[in-house]
Amino acid sequence: MSDKFDVIVIGAGPAGYVAAIRAAQLGLKVACVDAFAGKDGKQALGGTCLNVGCIPSKALLDSSRQFYNLTHNFDAHGISADNAKIDIPTFVARKDKIVKQFTGGVAQLFKANKVTPFFGKGKLLKGNQVEVTAADGAKQTISAANVILASGSVPIELPFARFDGKTIVDNAGALDFAAVPKRLAIIGAGVIGLELGSVWKRLGAEVIIIEALPDFLGSADADIAKVAQREFKKQGLDIKLGAKLGKAEVKKDGVHLVYTDKDGEQQLVVDKLLVAVGRRAYTDGLLADDTGVKLDERHRIVVDEHNHTGVDGVWAIGDAVRGPMLAHKGSEEGIAVAEWIAGKAGHVNFDTIPYVIYTEPELAWAGKTEQQLTEEGVPYKTGSFPFAANGRAVAMNEAVGQVKVIAHAETDRILGVHMIGPGVSELIAECVVAMEFKGSAEDLARIVHAHPTLSETVHEAALSVDKRAIHKGN
Ligand SMILES: Cc1cc2nc3c(=O)[nH]c(=O)nc-3n(C[C@H](O)[C@H](O)[C@H](O)COP(=O)(O)OP(=O)(O)OC[C@H]3O[C@@H](n4cnc5c(N)ncnc54)[C@H](O)[C@@H]3O)c2cc1C
Repeated sequence: MSDKFDVIVIGAGPAGYVAAIRAAQLGLKVACVDAFAGKDGKQALGGTCLNVGCIPSKALLDSSRQFYNLTHNFDAHGISADNAKIDIPTFVARKDKIVKQFTGGVAQLFKANKVTPFFGKGKLLKGNQVEVTAADGAKQTISAANVILASGSVPIELPFARFDGKTIVDNAGALDFAAVPKRLAIIGAGVIGLELGSVWKRLGAEVIIIEALPDFLGSADADIAKVAQREFKKQGLDIKLGAKLGKAEVKKDGVHLVYTDKDGEQQLVVDKLLVAVGRRAYTDGLLADDTGVKLDERHRIVVDEHNHTGVDGVWAIGDAVRGPMLAHKGSEEGIAVAEWIAGKAGHVNFDTIPYVIYTEPELAWAGKTEQQLTEEGVPYKTGSFPFAANGRAVAMNEAVGQVKVIAHAETDRILGVHMIGPGVSELIAECVVAMEFKGSAEDLARIVHAHPTLSETVHEAALSVDKRAIHKGN
């Protein structure tokens, strides 16, 4: 096999594998180096997202949702079942099967697009060479005109609560518990903490979430965060805000936690501890000393607006660079960089990246919050509509939440859309399209929406910006 390529991608997560496929589609000879091993020890392409992130978490969220509905919500439909049980090995095995299907799918896509995979740790050397070190220590060097760094991120570890993979775990550990923990503490009320906390709460665990910040979901729109906090509390998630963990000690009877909140020092003993305080760019061992590629104070690879590192032919994308740590953000950067390399016009619009939290109800948003616009001094108007007045949501017995559209006070251009409720992970897409096309609230309001659908809530919220929603008082 020749060791010369047009493009080498280091990392086969949603940023790297997408970049590799797009570059191959554009006629370039591409290699992709990735070190991730699956449960069978073999190469598992797809990175954090496919192996221990987006896909497995959604598999468990869906299974646990079915169980929770059966045991808590179906009685309203006249459906009951005696002795409903969940078999955790089957629950986890279903998730593993889905992961394998998708990581194997990336391998198939590589084959179909003639992307050459390398299994090992890649290190960028000076002159766009990449040294690949296999698990057994064997080394080989490959080179390319362009190298795309897509090494992703890893969970942040707390020095006083080190991961042991069994009792104090990261996201990967919390996707693989052998049984429902009686008491699960989670450090961090962010997306990962809330999603994985929901999974185990729905299956019967007592879940206590300890969050250092005083505000709940500070980056979400305040109205939406308020509804979320109320709903999660109703579900029994015990979220302690303004609480700082100081110590976590594994003993025979569980993890002994010491944290401080407004009332002083508190103690708690739990069976499992999930540390979900965020993720850091993973650039350890990625760069030889003389490559010229710069890292910032958070170990992220420094790039310009075209994801270029400033070193000839070296680019970086995904969680390893600035911007939100989201799979679709990394994928879009991957496509754009492949296109820039091929001399085409790549494009990523950071202003319309959708954010989703896959709890129950789901949260989704794109664009600015009211808080941000107030800080920036931008004049705006808002319109909202509750799912309680949406026929489809009521028919589904899932009539919680609302959609809020924020538009510029003078131009009516949509500046942000914020949602909490059933299926909003899908509903946000139409708002992103409208925003990408620089649409106005009036544009959304003039589009015909099928009846009865959840999407009518978006329509009504857009009408409400101009105080002309039909199915509520304005
Ligand atoms: C529990 C959880 C749930 C999530 N849910 C969502 C979600 O629903 N939606 C969403 O958008 N995002 C979600 N995310 C975030 C998402 O997983 C990341 O944003 C995304 O995976 C980043 O993609 P990436 O390609 O930049 O990096 P990664 O997916 O981290 O992939 C990087 C790959 O590079 C490999 N690698 C690193 N260094 C080297 C090296 N030197 N040599 C060879 N290989 C290397 C790694 O092993 C890995 O395979 C979730 C994350 C977690 C943890």
